[in-house]
Amino acid sequence: MQIASQEDPSCKIWMQIWKSKIHERHKIMWWQILMDALPCKAKVARFLHMANSKCTLCNHEEKNTLHFLWSCPVSARLWFLYCWGITAERVRISSWKEWFQVLGNDSNRPPTSSFNDLMQRAATIVSVIWRERNSIAHGAPVVPFDILCGLVGRPIQEWDASVELDQNRRWSNPTLG
Ligand SMILES: [Zn+2]
Repeated sequence: MQIASQEDPSCKIWMQIWKSKIHERHKIMWWQILMDALPCKAKVARFLHMANSKCTLCNHEEKNTLHFLWSCPVSARLWFLYCWGITAERVRISSWKEWFQVLGNDSNRPPTSSFNDLMQRAATIVSVIWRERNSIAHGAPVVPFDILCGLVGRPIQEWDASVELDQNRRWSNPTLG
């Protein structure tokens, strides 16, 4: 893919993320993901000359963050359950830039969803997976899947409720007096 310097897709994506309504710490996390700055196992293994570059969650080869945050079976289930039934098999991408280009496109999401809805879901899912992966790596027991579902589901439910409330406020007649 040719990248024109003035229209660098990373720059455009970053501007979209920056303007979205997600928490600042989630914006920083996306920046690290896009810049390939999260220490995935393959990268750490190369750096430290370690033999084990297996995914902490599924024990298969972990090539990059796209594996454990997106297509790893545990992560893929969370995406399916909490991001409109999206599956890694259907959305074929090879980088996070492509991920943003595909899912950032309104026509690839449910008609009523906004980019902010996507970012809220994605930031919640990714941060829960990242936390879980790190705690397993530090020796903590594996958190059962239904607990992970609660950790992802609650903030998303709260987000959806706040969006609905906001829309109702906007559409209701102004009260006088
Ligand atoms: Zn995995």
